[in-house]
Amino acid sequence: MKRIIESYKKKLESEEGVIVKRGASLRIALCYPNTHAVGMANLGLHTMYELFNKIPEVSCERVFLPDDLELKEYEKSRTPLLSLETQTPVKNFDVVAFSISFETDYLNMARMLQMSQIPVWSKDRNHFHPLVVMGGAASFLNPEPIADFTDIIAVGEGEILAFQLVDAITENETKDEILLSLARIGRGFYVPSLYDVIYNDDGTVFDYLPKETGVPKRVGRALASANPKEGTLRRAIKRGETEVVDFLMNQDTFAPSTAVWSPKAEMGDRLLIEISRGCSQGCRFCWAGYNYYPPRVVPAKDILAKASEWRGKTNKIGLVSTAVCDHPEISTILSELRKMDYRISVSSLRLDQISEELLDALVESNDQQIAVAPETGSDRLRRVINKNLTNDEIVDICGAVFDRGMLTVKLYLMVGLPTETYEDLEEMIVLVERIKNRMLEAGKRFGRAGKIIPSLNGLVPKPNTPFQWDAVCDEKELKNRLKWTAKNLSRIPNVEVRMMSARIAHEQALFSSGDRTVAKVIEAAARMKGNLNDALRETGIDARFHTSRNRSYEEFLPWSIVDSGLSFEFLKTEREKSQAALSSKPCPAVEKCTTCGVCPTTWLANAPVGLVQLQSLRTPRSLAVIA
Ligand code: SF4
Repeated sequence: MKRIIESYKKKLESEEGVIVKRGASLRIALCYPNTHAVGMANLGLHTMYELFNKIPEVSCERVFLPDDLELKEYEKSRTPLLSLETQTPVKNFDVVAFSISFETDYLNMARMLQMSQIPVWSKDRNHFHPLVVMGGAASFLNPEPIADFTDIIAVGEGEILAFQLVDAITENETKDEILLSLARIGRGFYVPSLYDVIYNDDGTVFDYLPKETGVPKRVGRALASANPKEGTLRRAIKRGETEVVDFLMNQDTFAPSTAVWSPKAEMGDRLLIEISRGCSQGCRFCWAGYNYYPPRVVPAKDILAKASEWRGKTNKIGLVSTAVCDHPEISTILSELRKMDYRISVSSLRLDQISEELLDALVESNDQQIAVAPETGSDRLRRVINKNLTNDEIVDICGAVFDRGMLTVKLYLMVGLPTETYEDLEEMIVLVERIKNRMLEAGKRFGRAGKIIPSLNGLVPKPNTPFQWDAVCDEKELKNRLKWTAKNLSRIPNVEVRMMSARIAHEQALFSSGDRTVAKVIEAAARMKGNLNDALRETGIDARFHTSRNRSYEEFLPWSIVDSGLSFEFLKTEREKSQAALSSKPCPAVEKCTTCGVCPTTWLANAPVGLVQLQSLRTPRSLAVIA
């Protein structure tokens, strides 16, 4: 145990911004189901740490999956899992809250519960045990595979739910009262134990039946809607509606950003700041796009204020966003950050929105590598997935990157897309070859050659996307396609191929599209140190039932317990358009749109007043119509 404490203290000594509150009445263990080095690069974790600790009666400490050396010590000394800040056993906290961004971390989550000596199954816990809460993108996309571990699942965004959770805990006496009061809000909190799951004879879900009155049949998604909708702000700027622009840009908006400076962690040497959430593009495979509709922005003033506060500590800043250049104030943000002499990096770059200005800023930052996502090499398949770019445009955009001396490009590519053929995969080889030739041409001017790094991933159809009804490509077939593509790509000089295994794609599909029974596999695999095959054998669960069959439109999908706001008709139409290789327009992110169903439901109707930013916009009469 001594060695574990020493290791934790060493980590703490290397950090700044750690919060330790003695004597708080509510103690929350904020768990990240991966190691400290990985977890500290996750903005969701920083955000929840900051938000929980802002509440006077709360003390929030971090807990990570121990690294290899610590793990050995834990096993040797049989020490229950400890928090980082005060090395308190996790089981002694009032609340154990997991922040889970990726379903691949579910095994780590179950393992951390096992290490904490907290019963893994919620039914085995009593009022002496901590409340176990799950939050984060993965858990609200499809909460069912982890439902049986969990007392409460946060359905939506933490900025709004953290405070409601703490209010319910402090205002109610017993665990049952807390659970019932949260479930009855109807939006933002899913309490799995308050539902009976009814199955059909063929094993598919028939329905979820609430066990108590006032508990909704479907749980709405809660959105942090203090931020302006991206399109509304853009239009107002374009139309010169100064009053509206001022109103939108001058509200106090929370900018999620690094809370603890942790230089030894991945990306720990830079200030990470979320500049916008969601993406307007509507790529049909992208859960992040649909899950965070409508796209919203953090106004430039809030981003720049944080950047200026942190400049004394670092000259590196990472802009976190799925669509950096969609931000209506991106020019101001980039030019002001450059004036502050920041080296700018971006979390991901959408090919269609790379601007000269952004490229210049990235070149200035001495980044030698850039990552972009053509997804496929076929213009037809790109229409299938609604990524509206052609191969010619992609080669031109990569050319603009190479002409600035950045000669290494990572290309994210997918295999196993709906309707894909080997001719499509051949086109992928041709596209990579064209990009490589363009790189060599530019390289001559700089006297060096770069590298093209295609990263091949199998498509995993995700809940709440138009591909939610589709099976993942058969494992053997996917393996063949990945191998064939990788082999042909690796024959091209200056190309270094990376590839995800077909097995991993199938594991991901099981954890993202499974129903409540999949929890048994997660528990067993965590116990068996990650051996999924043995876990499937022990539990008798047929993974293919969850991953490898096309679902009918009539089937009640396990994740339907969450009302994402996306309408059935919208997703169905998008799927049918995809099969006909027809593209759709992006989400305009403006007030009056009703296209996908999110804004008229999750965003506006019946939402608690604090959630609805656009209602407050209507207060001044002159601003009655803004879109
Ligand atoms: S309703 Fe319209 S603006 Fe709102 S998220 Fe859907 S497409 Fe975007």
